[in-house]
Amino acid sequence: MLLSQAAPDCQPHTQDFLNQEHGLLIDGSWVAAVSGEKFEVKNPANGQVIAMVAEGDQADVDRAVAAARKAFEGGPWPQMTASQRGKLIWKLADLLEENLEEFAELESLDNGKPRVVAAAADVPLAVDLFRYMAGWTTKIEGSTIPISVPYMPGAEFHSYTHREPVGVVGQIIPWNFPLLMAAWKLGPALATGCTVVLKVAEETPMSALRLGQLIQEAGFPNGVVNIITGFGETAGAALAAHADVDKVAFTGSTEVGKLIVKAAGESNLKKVTLELGGKSPNIVLPDADLSVAIPGAANAIFFNHGQCCCAGSRLFVHRSQFDEVVDGIAAAASEIQVGPGMHPDSQMGPMVSQIQQDRVCGYLESGLREGAQAVVGGHRTEGDGFFVEPTVLVNTESQMQVIQEEIFGPVVAAVAYEDPADLIQSANDSIYGLAAAVWTRDISKGHQFAKKLRAGSVWVNCYNVFDAALPFGGFKQSGWGREMGREAIDLYTETKAVTLQL
Ligand code: NAP
Ligand code: MG
Repeated sequence: MLLSQAAPDCQPHTQDFLNQEHGLLIDGSWVAAVSGEKFEVKNPANGQVIAMVAEGDQADVDRAVAAARKAFEGGPWPQMTASQRGKLIWKLADLLEENLEEFAELESLDNGKPRVVAAAADVPLAVDLFRYMAGWTTKIEGSTIPISVPYMPGAEFHSYTHREPVGVVGQIIPWNFPLLMAAWKLGPALATGCTVVLKVAEETPMSALRLGQLIQEAGFPNGVVNIITGFGETAGAALAAHADVDKVAFTGSTEVGKLIVKAAGESNLKKVTLELGGKSPNIVLPDADLSVAIPGAANAIFFNHGQCCCAGSRLFVHRSQFDEVVDGIAAAASEIQVGPGMHPDSQMGPMVSQIQQDRVCGYLESGLREGAQAVVGGHRTEGDGFFVEPTVLVNTESQMQVIQEEIFGPVVAAVAYEDPADLIQSANDSIYGLAAAVWTRDISKGHQFAKKLRAGSVWVNCYNVFDAALPFGGFKQSGWGREMGREAIDLYTETKAVTLQL
């Protein structure tokens, strides 16, 4: 169902922010790009320009890395106690929460997602992430280790480890959850005492720039967080290849992830963590409660317009229930209110850009050409804005692009299976391993599937459940390392082993 393209304006102070001059945050100041270049930021619901931002490139990355290095090695940041760092991060969470409505509007105008969804999910999750990470600052502990040293009989030692911040971190994030991805990256880096150069996605820079203002308001020392707006091929590549960056943390496509690894290897062998793509299997077992599984499977693919790395894009349903489940999801899809994110009734906004709309529609065309059939949807919507109809595909074959490749749009391919014994193999038949889900009334089967599915997150009778305390990341080509939880803290620290002879 397509809503009217007209949507209410944002609040005046959100508009005031958009109208500002938007520089790069380097060493505590907002500065123009060295080149003086700027680029347009568009609202994907109507293609209109909402702001102009600085186009940072290698020269700006150099300045930002130098500022981050200076802040890491001297000044107030390394002198702060763990508790003082925690207090600053908590203050940032408070400021973000106080400005929740403004951030929800910025996410909606910039990314296209419904304002109400951003207000209920993206912003509160970012607030919660910062609070969770604030708590970690005082709990980053090493251990004392009894050592034996067989070649030094009789010698006595006291050995211990402590965890130190990895150093200057380059962080590169995508456009699908602009604020939340910034929080996932910044939270553990700040908690561990690292300093950061954050390169935000060219499509969606606005919420990170506003967050930069709050970082300054909270009182973080200059240079601890530097924010670069610009393009991946220039600013992002410069950050990944920079010889004075100790770690790069990247979220985005597997293709670019491989370039990041190459750049890290060819420069200074910096540490790398990667959160990449997915093609996640969602399995409905014959004993599932369909009244839960059907809306659950619809949410698995249609949340955030399918622009989720963990979207449940391959749906497996037993042949005996296939029509019932597919019809149920198709009905749910046709009831979704698609419209501008700022429309109060909007449940699904546009794709983030024309490029993304074309990419998703290209996949749809290829699938339909190869014999797949759209039970519902299958096309872009005409008019302004980069909308794509929520789509359910059937009659797919395992080698089709729509089954093998990440579409990153509101498109689910439903596959009928005969023998549940083959399911694990089919579900794991992907280069990716980010997430998976199973719907069943049999709790023991739920655990068995959870054990055998090769994915970083497995949901049983639910989907898209995230928490700051739960590690998130991928097996196989879905990435290296984990975001959130204690594991993120570990990945922003180096372990130092200290030994004293007594
Ligand atoms: P992308 O093209 O890989 O871009 C991600 C980020 O990398 C952007 O900031 C981009 O800059 C930058 N970039 C592009 N080329 C680069 C290069 N050569 N060197 C360094 N940085 C470069 O991905 P996207 O299309 O924005 O995002 C969608 C993809 O991200 C999907 O595949 C999705 O699965 C994945 N994703 C994964 C997770 C996860 O947690 N696993 C979360 C969200 C998204 P520009 O903005 O200028 O392009
Ligand atoms: Mg780009």
